[in-house]
Amino acid sequence: MADKVLLRHLDIPNFHQLDVYVANGGYNAARKALTTMKPEEVIDQVKASNLRGRGGAGFGTGMKWGFLPKDSAKPVYLCCNADESEPGTFKDRAIIEWNTHILLEGLLISSYAIKSHTCYIYIRGEFVFGAQRLEEEIAAAYAKGYLGKNIFGTGFDLDIYVHRGAGAYICGEETGLIESLEGKRAYPRIKPPFPATYGLFGCPTIVNNVETLACVPSIIENGPAWFKAIGPESGPGPKIYCVSGHVEKPGLYELPMGVTLRSLLYDHAGGIRGGKQLKAVMPGGSSFPILTADEIDVAMDFDSMRKINAFLGSAGIIVMDEDTCMVKALTIIDRFYHHESCGQCSPCREGTGWLHKLLMRLEEGNGRAEDIDMMDRISTNMMGNTVCVLADAAAMPTQSYLQKFKAEFVEHVTLGRCPFQKEGAPTHRHTAHAA
Ligand code: SF4
Repeated sequence: MADKVLLRHLDIPNFHQLDVYVANGGYNAARKALTTMKPEEVIDQVKASNLRGRGGAGFGTGMKWGFLPKDSAKPVYLCCNADESEPGTFKDRAIIEWNTHILLEGLLISSYAIKSHTCYIYIRGEFVFGAQRLEEEIAAAYAKGYLGKNIFGTGFDLDIYVHRGAGAYICGEETGLIESLEGKRAYPRIKPPFPATYGLFGCPTIVNNVETLACVPSIIENGPAWFKAIGPESGPGPKIYCVSGHVEKPGLYELPMGVTLRSLLYDHAGGIRGGKQLKAVMPGGSSFPILTADEIDVAMDFDSMRKINAFLGSAGIIVMDEDTCMVKALTIIDRFYHHESCGQCSPCREGTGWLHKLLMRLEEGNGRAEDIDMMDRISTNMMGNTVCVLADAAAMPTQSYLQKFKAEFVEHVTLGRCPFQKEGAPTHRHTAHAA
């Protein structure tokens, strides 16, 4: 892939500005879609491209759009999920801030495809700069006729609103997002009904992630065959990988879907910091099973990851070197999920808390041998028993850490302390409270 698509601002200065974006071919795809294609044809092209959602689930985008009722009497809404709450993930923010109009153009084309005239960008409250930039560039697009009434003289109208959230992990779950957008607490809804039939204000609604929507203009401009040629056919396209943790060059890397994790870490991110050994990698944010150092020859795409019982997720890759205490790492993860549980379901509300307490006990040197099995039982009972998948997001990493690094958990019990704890250093409880 010669040129960047999603991180094009790295090649072209001020690419977030409307005039620069238009001078470099911006809005050609939207013009093509609105003036030469029927909405159904746009959906067919997106289906044919095999674009899969970049928010975590990897569901077919065109297929999701196809679930909307035909000729709905109620308004149809498009919600852009810009909550980006998965730990280790920071790609959507970069698109919003620096390639702003590729997202707005994607929203325009996608709204046209699903016959929506109202689109909400749900952005997490902490993204102050991104929200301001979106508002400025949306105003610029209205002023030049790319949004508003009778776009390109086609009679198609679209209004886009930026809605700032208050910064809760669960607002990134699509039904939690919808509840929050309606002005309520972001309690995820029991499904079915799915948002495609009963979503925002009880109307048909599509919720798509920022990166997913930002892929749409290039599919319409270059055709689905071009898109499918980038990476594996079952889930292709340009992909932004977020690399953080113990590497020499953390950052965002736009590469074809399916690059191997080894190549990403060693060819692009400069290898492990300070020449140390790799110990483990969280490949798809913190919600999924962890990989060991000998599992990194996997291709980073949806289906290859599933074959090794892992998930691409949001491609938030968190790297840990040989000095990392896996018990402490898991303590931090489970503390996060306990804090972010909305509390509706007892397996999640109580389970995340129990996991965190048991891990704290181990890390502080007070763990018992039976605690390890207890964590396994608790996490097993949390999976598949709740309204949304936050409980699974805590249980899956817990089970994989226990399975792949069990010796380290046992060592915490037998030594009666954390083997990685330096003498005189504060305990996890102290650092947790200071954070
Ligand atoms: Fe809330 Fe957790 Fe239940 Fe999801 S699984 S609805 S976050 S309590």
